[in-house]
Amino acid sequence: MIPFNRPCVTGNEQRYIQKAIQTPKLSGNGPFGKRCTDWLENHLNCEKALLTPSCTAALEMTGLLIEATGGDEIIMPSYTFVSTANAFALRGASIRFVDVEPETMNIDPAAIERAITKHTKAIVVVHYAGVSCDMDAIMKIANRHHLWVIEDAAQALMSNYKGKPLGTIGHFGTISFHETKNYTCGEGGALLVNESDAIDRAEIIQEKGTNRSQFIKGMVDKYTWRDIGSSFLLSDLNAAYLYAQLQNADHINDDRLSTWNHYHQALQTLNESVSLPFIPEDCSHNAHMYYLKTDDENTRQQLIEYLKAHDIMAVSHYVPLHSSHAGEKYGRFIGEDLYTTRDSERLVRLPLYYGMEEEDINHVVTHLHSYFKK
Ligand SMILES: *Cc1c(COP(=O)(O)O)cnc(C)c1O
Repeated sequence: MIPFNRPCVTGNEQRYIQKAIQTPKLSGNGPFGKRCTDWLENHLNCEKALLTPSCTAALEMTGLLIEATGGDEIIMPSYTFVSTANAFALRGASIRFVDVEPETMNIDPAAIERAITKHTKAIVVVHYAGVSCDMDAIMKIANRHHLWVIEDAAQALMSNYKGKPLGTIGHFGTISFHETKNYTCGEGGALLVNESDAIDRAEIIQEKGTNRSQFIKGMVDKYTWRDIGSSFLLSDLNAAYLYAQLQNADHINDDRLSTWNHYHQALQTLNESVSLPFIPEDCSHNAHMYYLKTDDENTRQQLIEYLKAHDIMAVSHYVPLHSSHAGEKYGRFIGEDLYTTRDSERLVRLPLYYGMEEEDINHVVTHLHSYFKK
């Protein structure tokens, strides 16, 4: 069976974990954590990166940082993972789901603008498949209405918009190192703080609401409870695994891109039967995902079954949040749902992981061609 995903291992993970055990400093913000945050700050040219237990946790930190509360409205796509919405529903805020653009499955800036009211506090954008949203348009809208912008860049490490790394354009960016993402440590994430004024508070929130991080830097002589917060730290054991991957980031990226490009070239002739991904001119992407859209949900189901019968795991993706039980309770869709539901039902993701064998890529391509020839 060709799996949909295989967690990435590059070689140095075990050695670094061994080193972390010997140090011994296993809790958060340890030596490997420092190497990872330095790497992120240098490579992404961002002011402050904090490692978190997950992207979910990093999103929850942004809910605290913008002080989202009951009565606030947060605009985001309905086509996303539950964590994007949970982070703000947990603060009592109300979620305003809007439509995506069908070419990229990214939030539609015009739909954002139409959903803004005097209660709107923030826009959360999701860079689907590691391909950037229209950030110029979104930042312009946000600035005009004085709104926070949070980039859910869970899938988007190593992707750029007009040369700027994703996650560093809005006020905050969040990244995931879950095993299904390009760079992983099992479970893990990062918060990118692009707003200088928010750095001190982000460090306090990460350390259970204490100024322990200032204490460690020798800036205060004892640490105390300063604010609400939680334990938003990543163990140094996980950071050790992650550092091995970050050191190999270019290599992993090139490998994934070559698989992505292989699919893209080999599937061009299916253009009549399916829609293929579209990468806008301003974007360079990290090959997080290769997806097709069939004509309808029925065809997608048949295709998934056909591929499965030929030992290929292809999978659907998000069920629009506004149609879910919790989505109805904590938010609602604003405007017309032209593409979210329709396109979420047609979308199917192909196997793509670091080190995918050429033979396996060809196997997937061959069976896609044979399915659509029928
Ligand atoms: C994976 C993902 C998350 C959650 O990441 P975790 O690290 O598992 O918490 C959030 N948002 C999006 C868009 C994702 O793809």
